[in-house]
Amino acid sequence: MAKGKGKSRRRIPDWQQRVKDGELDDAAPQRQSVTARAVKIPAHRLEAPEDNLDDLPKATGMVVGFFPGGVIVRHEGGELLCGIAKTFRAPENTTPLAVGDQATVALTQHADGESDDKVRADGFVIAREPRETLLARPQPTSGKHQDLYKTETFRKVIVANMDRLLIVVSLRQPKLRRGLIDRFLIAAQRGELEPLLVINKVDLARPDDKLLEELTARDIGIHLCSATTGEGLAELTEHLKGSTCVLAGPSGVGKSTLINAIVPGAEVQTRKVRSKDQRGRHTTSAASVYNLPGGGLIVDTPGIRELGMDLTAQELPWYFPEFEPFVADCRFNDCTHSHEPNCAVIAAFENGQLDPRRFESYLRILETL
Ligand code: GDP
Ligand code: ZN
Repeated sequence: MAKGKGKSRRRIPDWQQRVKDGELDDAAPQRQSVTARAVKIPAHRLEAPEDNLDDLPKATGMVVGFFPGGVIVRHEGGELLCGIAKTFRAPENTTPLAVGDQATVALTQHADGESDDKVRADGFVIAREPRETLLARPQPTSGKHQDLYKTETFRKVIVANMDRLLIVVSLRQPKLRRGLIDRFLIAAQRGELEPLLVINKVDLARPDDKLLEELTARDIGIHLCSATTGEGLAELTEHLKGSTCVLAGPSGVGKSTLINAIVPGAEVQTRKVRSKDQRGRHTTSAASVYNLPGGGLIVDTPGIRELGMDLTAQELPWYFPEFEPFVADCRFNDCTHSHEPNCAVIAAFENGQLDPRRFESYLRILETL
Protein backbone atom coordinates (compact mmCIF):
# COMPACT_ATOMS: atom_id res chain seq x y z
CA MET A 1 0.00 0.00 0.00
CA ALA A 2 1.35 3.40 -0.94
CA LYS A 3 2.45 5.56 1.93
CA GLY A 4 1.67 9.23 2.39
CA LYS A 5 -1.84 9.12 1.06
CA GLY A 6 -4.64 10.48 3.20
CA LYS A 7 -6.77 7.94 5.00
CA SER A 8 -9.83 8.63 3.00
CA ARG A 9 -8.07 7.90 -0.22
CA ARG A 10 -6.43 4.82 1.09
CA ARG A 11 -9.41 2.78 2.09
CA ILE A 12 -10.84 1.72 -1.17
CA PRO A 13 -7.65 0.56 -2.86
CA ASP A 14 -6.90 -1.23 0.38
CA TRP A 15 -10.25 -2.95 0.24
CA GLN A 16 -9.83 -3.91 -3.36
CA GLN A 17 -6.41 -5.29 -2.53
CA ARG A 18 -7.93 -7.45 0.17
CA VAL A 19 -10.40 -8.85 -2.29
CA LYS A 20 -7.60 -9.47 -4.79
CA ASP A 21 -5.45 -11.13 -2.17
CA GLY A 22 -8.27 -13.58 -1.78
CA GLU A 23 -8.75 -12.64 1.80
CA LEU A 24 -12.48 -12.66 1.33
CA ASP A 25 -12.44 -15.65 -0.88
CA ASP A 26 -11.69 -19.29 -0.52
CA ALA A 27 -14.40 -20.65 -2.61
CA ALA A 28 -14.91 -22.36 -5.84
CA PRO A 29 -17.18 -20.40 -8.11
CA GLN A 30 -20.72 -21.48 -7.45
CA ARG A 31 -22.55 -19.67 -10.18
CA GLN A 32 -20.99 -20.01 -13.54
CA SER A 33 -22.98 -17.21 -15.12
CA VAL A 34 -21.86 -14.69 -12.54
CA THR A 35 -18.28 -15.85 -12.79
CA ALA A 36 -18.27 -15.56 -16.52
CA ARG A 37 -19.70 -12.07 -16.35
CA ALA A 38 -17.49 -10.94 -13.51
CA VAL A 39 -14.28 -11.74 -15.30
CA LYS A 40 -15.51 -9.90 -18.37
CA ILE A 41 -16.05 -6.59 -16.61
CA PRO A 42 -12.96 -4.55 -17.41
CA ALA A 43 -11.37 -2.73 -14.50
CA HIS A 44 -12.26 0.74 -15.80
CA ARG A 45 -15.91 -0.24 -15.87
CA LEU A 46 -15.79 -0.88 -12.15
CA GLU A 47 -14.68 2.65 -11.48
CA ALA A 48 -17.73 4.65 -10.75
CA PRO A 49 -18.16 8.02 -12.39
CA GLU A 50 -17.41 10.18 -9.38
CA ASP A 51 -20.02 12.89 -9.70
CA ASN A 52 -23.33 11.53 -10.75
CA LEU A 53 -23.99 8.68 -8.29
CA ASP A 54 -26.33 10.89 -6.30
CA ASP A 55 -28.66 11.13 -9.24
CA LEU A 56 -28.90 7.41 -9.82
CA PRO A 57 -31.71 5.28 -8.40
CA LYS A 58 -30.76 3.39 -5.24
CA ALA A 59 -31.42 -0.15 -4.11
CA THR A 60 -30.61 -2.08 -0.97
CA GLY A 61 -29.57 -5.70 -0.98
CA MET A 62 -27.49 -8.31 0.75
CA VAL A 63 -23.88 -8.93 -0.16
CA VAL A 64 -23.57 -12.57 -1.20
CA GLY A 65 -20.17 -12.77 -2.83
CA PHE A 66 -17.05 -11.24 -4.27
CA PHE A 67 -15.15 -10.99 -7.49
CA PRO A 68 -11.93 -9.08 -8.12
CA GLY A 69 -12.70 -5.42 -7.55
CA GLY A 70 -16.34 -5.82 -6.65
CA VAL A 71 -19.14 -7.54 -4.81
CA ILE A 72 -22.27 -9.47 -5.73
CA VAL A 73 -25.42 -8.01 -4.18
CA ARG A 74 -28.68 -9.93 -3.99
CA HIS A 75 -31.58 -7.73 -4.85
CA GLU A 76 -35.18 -8.67 -5.61
CA GLY A 77 -34.29 -12.27 -6.30
CA GLY A 78 -31.57 -11.34 -8.78
CA GLU A 79 -27.88 -10.60 -8.41
CA LEU A 80 -26.17 -7.31 -9.09
CA LEU A 81 -22.50 -7.20 -9.93
CA CYS A 82 -21.30 -4.05 -8.24
CA GLY A 83 -18.19 -1.97 -8.17
CA ILE A 84 -17.37 0.11 -5.11
CA ALA A 85 -18.04 3.84 -5.21
CA LYS A 86 -15.05 6.05 -4.49
CA THR A 87 -17.08 7.66 -1.74
CA PHE A 88 -17.73 4.36 0.05
CA ARG A 89 -16.46 4.44 3.64
CA ALA A 90 -16.48 1.67 6.19
CA PRO A 91 -15.23 1.60 9.78
CA GLU A 92 -11.60 0.68 10.24
CA ASN A 93 -10.36 -2.60 11.64
CA THR A 94 -12.95 -4.73 9.99
CA THR A 95 -13.73 -6.26 6.63
CA PRO A 96 -15.40 -3.38 4.75
CA LEU A 97 -17.96 -5.61 3.04
CA ALA A 98 -18.81 -9.16 4.02
CA VAL A 99 -21.41 -11.73 3.08
CA GLY A 100 -24.64 -10.75 4.83
CA ASP A 101 -23.99 -7.02 4.81
CA GLN A 102 -26.87 -4.81 3.75
CA ALA A 103 -25.47 -2.61 1.03
CA THR A 104 -26.91 0.45 -0.63
CA VAL A 105 -26.22 0.42 -4.34
CA ALA A 106 -26.45 3.23 -6.87
CA LEU A 107 -27.88 1.46 -9.89
CA THR A 108 -26.27 1.98 -13.25
CA GLN A 109 -28.78 2.98 -15.83
CA HIS A 110 -28.48 0.75 -18.82
CA ALA A 111 -29.72 2.40 -21.96
CA ASP A 112 -32.19 0.30 -23.90
CA GLY A 113 -30.52 -1.94 -26.39
CA GLU A 114 -27.06 -1.10 -25.16
CA SER A 115 -24.81 -3.78 -26.48
CA ASP A 116 -22.16 -3.77 -23.80
CA ASP A 117 -24.50 -4.33 -20.83
CA LYS A 118 -22.79 -7.57 -20.08
CA VAL A 119 -19.50 -5.86 -19.45
CA ARG A 120 -20.80 -3.15 -17.18
CA ALA A 121 -21.18 -3.17 -13.46
CA ASP A 122 -24.86 -3.14 -12.49
CA GLY A 123 -24.19 -0.56 -9.83
CA PHE A 124 -21.84 0.81 -7.22
CA VAL A 125 -21.91 0.21 -3.51
CA ILE A 126 -22.14 3.56 -1.79
CA ALA A 127 -22.83 2.51 1.82
CA ARG A 128 -23.54 -0.36 4.13
CA GLU A 129 -25.66 -0.71 7.22
CA PRO A 130 -24.04 -1.23 10.63
CA ARG A 131 -23.78 -4.93 11.45
CA GLU A 132 -26.10 -6.50 13.98
CA THR A 133 -24.20 -9.74 14.46
CA LEU A 134 -21.05 -11.13 12.97
CA LEU A 135 -18.97 -14.23 12.67
CA ALA A 136 -15.41 -13.11 12.60
CA ARG A 137 -11.90 -14.00 13.56
CA PRO A 138 -9.06 -11.75 14.58
CA GLN A 139 -6.39 -11.08 12.06
CA PRO A 140 -3.20 -9.08 12.27
CA THR A 141 -3.39 -6.18 9.85
CA SER A 142 0.24 -6.44 8.83
CA GLY A 143 3.27 -8.65 9.19
CA LYS A 144 4.16 -6.75 12.33
CA HIS A 145 3.39 -8.38 15.61
CA GLN A 146 0.04 -7.26 16.78
CA ASP A 147 -1.43 -7.71 20.19
CA LEU A 148 -4.37 -10.00 19.63
CA TYR A 149 -5.99 -8.98 22.87
CA LYS A 150 -6.49 -5.43 21.79
CA THR A 151 -10.02 -4.59 20.88
CA GLU A 152 -8.83 -2.75 17.80
CA THR A 153 -7.50 -5.95 16.31
CA PHE A 154 -8.58 -6.28 12.71
CA ARG A 155 -11.64 -8.47 12.48
CA LYS A 156 -11.99 -10.58 9.43
CA VAL A 157 -15.72 -10.84 9.08
CA ILE A 158 -16.93 -14.07 7.53
CA VAL A 159 -20.63 -13.34 7.64
CA ALA A 160 -22.67 -10.47 9.04
CA ASN A 161 -26.24 -10.01 10.28
CA MET A 162 -27.24 -13.65 10.73
CA ASP A 163 -29.56 -14.51 13.61
CA ARG A 164 -28.29 -18.03 14.04
CA LEU A 165 -25.35 -20.29 13.54
CA LEU A 166 -26.49 -23.75 12.52
CA ILE A 167 -23.80 -26.18 13.57
CA VAL A 168 -24.45 -29.43 11.75
CA VAL A 169 -22.72 -32.58 12.98
CA SER A 170 -23.20 -36.32 12.89
CA LEU A 171 -22.22 -39.00 15.38
CA ARG A 172 -21.08 -41.44 12.75
CA GLN A 173 -19.77 -40.96 9.20
CA PRO A 174 -18.09 -38.66 10.13
CA LYS A 175 -17.56 -39.10 13.85
CA LEU A 176 -18.50 -36.35 16.27
CA ARG A 177 -15.74 -33.88 17.13
CA ARG A 178 -16.64 -32.01 20.28
CA GLY A 179 -13.74 -29.62 19.82
CA LEU A 180 -15.24 -28.34 16.61
CA ILE A 181 -18.61 -27.69 18.25
CA ASP A 182 -16.87 -25.71 20.99
CA ARG A 183 -15.02 -23.58 18.48
CA PHE A 184 -18.12 -22.69 16.52
CA LEU A 185 -19.91 -22.03 19.76
CA ILE A 186 -17.47 -19.43 20.99
CA ALA A 187 -17.40 -17.75 17.58
CA ALA A 188 -21.20 -17.49 17.73
CA GLN A 189 -21.12 -16.13 21.27
CA ARG A 190 -18.53 -13.54 20.37
CA GLY A 191 -20.62 -12.35 17.43
CA GLU A 192 -23.97 -12.54 19.25
CA LEU A 193 -25.49 -15.21 17.06
CA GLU A 194 -27.70 -17.86 18.58
CA PRO A 195 -26.03 -21.24 18.11
CA LEU A 196 -28.15 -24.23 17.23
CA LEU A 197 -26.72 -27.73 17.10
CA VAL A 198 -28.20 -30.04 14.50
CA ILE A 199 -27.26 -33.67 15.00
CA ASN A 200 -27.94 -35.26 11.63
CA LYS A 201 -27.81 -38.92 10.55
CA VAL A 202 -29.62 -40.13 13.65
CA ASP A 203 -30.72 -43.07 11.49
CA LEU A 204 -27.13 -44.28 11.80
CA ALA A 205 -26.49 -43.43 15.44
CA ARG A 206 -28.29 -41.57 18.21
CA PRO A 207 -26.77 -39.59 21.03
CA ASP A 208 -27.16 -41.29 24.42
CA ASP A 209 -28.34 -39.39 27.49
CA LYS A 210 -24.83 -38.78 28.71
CA LEU A 211 -23.79 -37.08 25.49
CA LEU A 212 -26.99 -35.05 25.33
CA GLU A 213 -26.43 -33.87 28.87
CA GLU A 214 -22.88 -32.93 28.09
CA LEU A 215 -23.93 -30.94 25.04
CA THR A 216 -26.88 -29.27 26.75
CA ALA A 217 -24.47 -28.06 29.41
CA ARG A 218 -22.93 -25.87 26.72
CA ASP A 219 -26.12 -23.80 26.59
CA ILE A 220 -27.00 -24.74 23.10
CA GLY A 221 -30.28 -25.73 21.48
CA ILE A 222 -30.17 -29.24 20.01
CA HIS A 223 -32.10 -30.76 17.11
CA LEU A 224 -31.92 -34.43 16.19
CA CYS A 225 -32.71 -35.31 12.61
CA SER A 226 -32.06 -37.43 9.59
CA ALA A 227 -31.94 -35.75 6.23
CA THR A 228 -32.46 -39.10 4.51
CA THR A 229 -35.37 -40.54 6.53
CA GLY A 230 -36.92 -37.13 7.19
CA GLU A 231 -37.03 -37.59 10.94
CA GLY A 232 -37.01 -34.31 12.83
CA LEU A 233 -37.08 -32.14 9.70
CA ALA A 234 -40.54 -30.68 10.24
CA GLU A 235 -39.52 -29.48 13.71
CA LEU A 236 -36.26 -28.07 12.40
CA THR A 237 -38.03 -26.22 9.59
CA GLU A 238 -40.53 -24.79 12.04
CA HIS A 239 -37.76 -23.67 14.37
CA LEU A 240 -35.81 -21.93 11.61
CA LYS A 241 -38.81 -20.20 10.07
CA GLY A 242 -38.42 -16.45 9.82
CA SER A 243 -34.79 -16.33 10.89
CA THR A 244 -31.55 -15.90 9.02
CA CYS A 245 -29.12 -18.75 9.57
CA VAL A 246 -25.62 -19.50 8.50
CA LEU A 247 -24.52 -23.10 8.05
CA ALA A 248 -21.44 -24.57 9.62
CA GLY A 249 -20.09 -28.05 10.13
CA PRO A 250 -17.52 -30.46 8.79
CA SER A 251 -17.89 -31.90 5.33
CA GLY A 252 -19.85 -35.11 4.98
CA VAL A 253 -22.28 -34.53 7.85
CA GLY A 254 -25.13 -33.93 5.40
CA LYS A 255 -25.44 -30.14 5.13
CA SER A 256 -26.29 -30.21 1.43
CA THR A 257 -28.70 -33.10 1.87
CA LEU A 258 -30.39 -31.18 4.69
CA ILE A 259 -30.84 -28.06 2.58
CA ASN A 260 -32.31 -30.13 -0.21
CA ALA A 261 -34.69 -31.72 2.26
CA ILE A 262 -35.96 -28.51 3.85
CA VAL A 263 -35.72 -26.00 0.98
CA PRO A 264 -38.00 -26.89 -1.92
CA GLY A 265 -36.17 -26.67 -5.21
CA ALA A 266 -32.73 -26.03 -3.69
CA GLU A 267 -31.02 -28.76 -5.69
CA VAL A 268 -27.69 -28.49 -3.94
CA GLN A 269 -25.16 -30.95 -5.20
CA THR A 270 -24.25 -33.39 -2.46
CA ARG A 271 -20.94 -35.13 -2.02
CA LYS A 272 -19.12 -32.55 -4.00
CA VAL A 273 -15.64 -33.57 -4.93
CA ARG A 274 -13.49 -30.63 -4.04
CA SER A 275 -10.08 -30.53 -5.59
CA LYS A 276 -7.37 -29.49 -3.20
CA ASP A 277 -6.10 -26.54 -5.19
CA GLN A 278 -9.40 -24.66 -5.22
CA ARG A 279 -8.45 -22.66 -2.17
CA GLY A 280 -5.78 -20.95 -4.17
CA ARG A 281 -8.05 -19.73 -6.93
CA HIS A 282 -9.21 -16.18 -6.72
CA THR A 283 -11.90 -15.41 -9.18
CA THR A 284 -15.37 -15.28 -7.79
CA SER A 285 -16.71 -16.54 -4.53
CA ALA A 286 -20.34 -16.46 -3.74
CA ALA A 287 -22.34 -17.67 -0.80
CA SER A 288 -25.37 -19.74 -1.61
CA VAL A 289 -28.53 -18.25 -0.17
CA TYR A 290 -31.66 -20.35 0.23
CA ASN A 291 -35.09 -19.00 1.02
CA LEU A 292 -36.79 -20.93 3.78
CA PRO A 293 -40.41 -21.88 3.31
CA GLY A 294 -42.39 -19.46 5.44
CA GLY A 295 -39.67 -16.79 5.46
CA GLY A 296 -36.05 -16.55 6.46
CA LEU A 297 -32.81 -17.63 4.87
CA ILE A 298 -30.08 -20.19 5.10
CA VAL A 299 -26.70 -18.91 3.99
CA ASP A 300 -23.99 -21.36 3.06
CA THR A 301 -20.75 -19.49 2.76
CA PRO A 302 -17.46 -21.25 2.13
CA GLY A 303 -15.35 -18.97 4.33
CA ILE A 304 -16.93 -20.43 7.43
CA ARG A 305 -14.97 -23.64 7.25
CA GLU A 306 -11.78 -22.03 8.43
CA LEU A 307 -13.52 -20.67 11.50
CA GLY A 308 -13.73 -24.09 13.01
CA MET A 309 -10.69 -25.69 11.50
CA ASP A 310 -7.63 -23.58 11.97
CA LEU A 311 -8.18 -21.60 15.10
CA THR A 312 -4.86 -20.93 16.83
CA ALA A 313 -4.11 -20.83 20.54
CA GLN A 314 -2.98 -17.24 20.05
CA GLU A 315 -6.37 -16.23 18.64
CA LEU A 316 -8.44 -18.02 21.23
CA PRO A 317 -8.56 -15.28 23.93
CA TRP A 318 -10.08 -12.92 21.36
CA TYR A 319 -13.25 -14.99 21.56
CA PHE A 320 -13.38 -14.34 25.31
CA PRO A 321 -13.66 -10.57 25.50
CA GLU A 322 -14.42 -10.83 29.23
CA PHE A 323 -10.75 -11.79 29.79
CA GLU A 324 -9.54 -8.53 28.31
CA PRO A 325 -9.60 -6.38 31.45
CA PHE A 326 -7.27 -8.85 33.18
CA VAL A 327 -4.84 -9.87 30.46
CA ALA A 328 -2.59 -6.83 30.84
CA ASP A 329 -1.84 -7.90 34.42
CA CYS A 330 -0.57 -11.38 33.53
CA ARG A 331 3.14 -11.69 34.29
CA PHE A 332 4.01 -13.17 30.91
CA ASN A 333 3.24 -11.46 27.65
CA ASP A 334 2.50 -14.75 25.98
CA CYS A 335 0.45 -16.10 28.87
CA THR A 336 -2.04 -18.76 27.75
CA HIS A 337 -4.05 -18.35 30.99
CA SER A 338 -3.95 -22.05 31.67
CA HIS A 339 -1.05 -22.92 34.00
CA GLU A 340 1.23 -19.86 34.22
CA PRO A 341 2.17 -18.35 37.58
CA ASN A 342 0.84 -14.83 38.20
CA CYS A 343 -1.85 -15.17 35.58
CA ALA A 344 -4.43 -12.45 36.15
CA VAL A 345 -7.11 -14.35 34.24
CA ILE A 346 -6.77 -17.44 36.45
CA ALA A 347 -6.82 -15.11 39.47
CA ALA A 348 -10.01 -13.48 38.19
CA PHE A 349 -11.60 -16.91 37.73
CA GLU A 350 -10.60 -17.88 41.29
CA ASN A 351 -12.07 -14.66 42.67
CA GLY A 352 -15.35 -15.35 40.95
CA GLN A 353 -14.95 -12.49 38.46
CA LEU A 354 -15.30 -14.79 35.47
CA ASP A 355 -18.10 -17.18 34.58
CA PRO A 356 -16.64 -20.61 35.47
CA ARG A 357 -18.38 -22.24 32.51
CA ARG A 358 -16.77 -19.82 30.12
CA PHE A 359 -13.35 -20.29 31.67
CA GLU A 360 -13.71 -24.07 31.53
CA SER A 361 -14.78 -23.87 27.93
CA TYR A 362 -11.69 -21.75 27.23
CA LEU A 363 -9.43 -24.41 28.77
CA ARG A 364 -11.26 -27.20 26.95
CA ILE A 365 -10.79 -25.54 23.57
CA LEU A 366 -7.18 -24.62 24.31
CA GLU A 367 -6.46 -28.30 24.85
CA THR A 368 -7.67 -29.14 21.36
CA LEU A 369 -5.45 -26.57 19.65
P1 GDP B 1 -22.05 -32.11 3.37
O1 GDP B 1 -20.62 -32.27 2.96
O2 GDP B 1 -22.17 -31.75 4.82
O3 GDP B 1 -22.82 -31.19 2.49
O4 GDP B 1 -22.72 -33.58 3.25
P2 GDP B 1 -23.66 -34.16 2.09
O5 GDP B 1 -25.00 -33.55 2.17
O6 GDP B 1 -22.94 -34.08 0.79
O7 GDP B 1 -23.81 -35.68 2.58
C1 GDP B 1 -22.72 -36.57 2.66
C2 GDP B 1 -23.25 -38.00 2.59
O8 GDP B 1 -24.04 -38.31 3.73
C3 GDP B 1 -24.12 -38.24 1.37
O9 GDP B 1 -23.80 -39.52 0.85
C4 GDP B 1 -25.52 -38.23 1.95
O10 GDP B 1 -26.41 -39.04 1.21
C5 GDP B 1 -25.30 -38.80 3.33
N1 GDP B 1 -26.31 -38.32 4.28
C6 GDP B 1 -26.75 -37.06 4.46
N2 GDP B 1 -27.67 -36.99 5.45
C7 GDP B 1 -27.82 -38.27 5.90
C8 GDP B 1 -28.63 -38.85 6.95
O11 GDP B 1 -29.40 -38.20 7.66
N3 GDP B 1 -28.48 -40.19 7.14
C9 GDP B 1 -27.64 -40.96 6.39
N4 GDP B 1 -27.56 -42.26 6.66
N5 GDP B 1 -26.87 -40.43 5.42
C10 GDP B 1 -26.95 -39.11 5.17
ZN1 ZN C 1 -2.72 -15.15 31.94
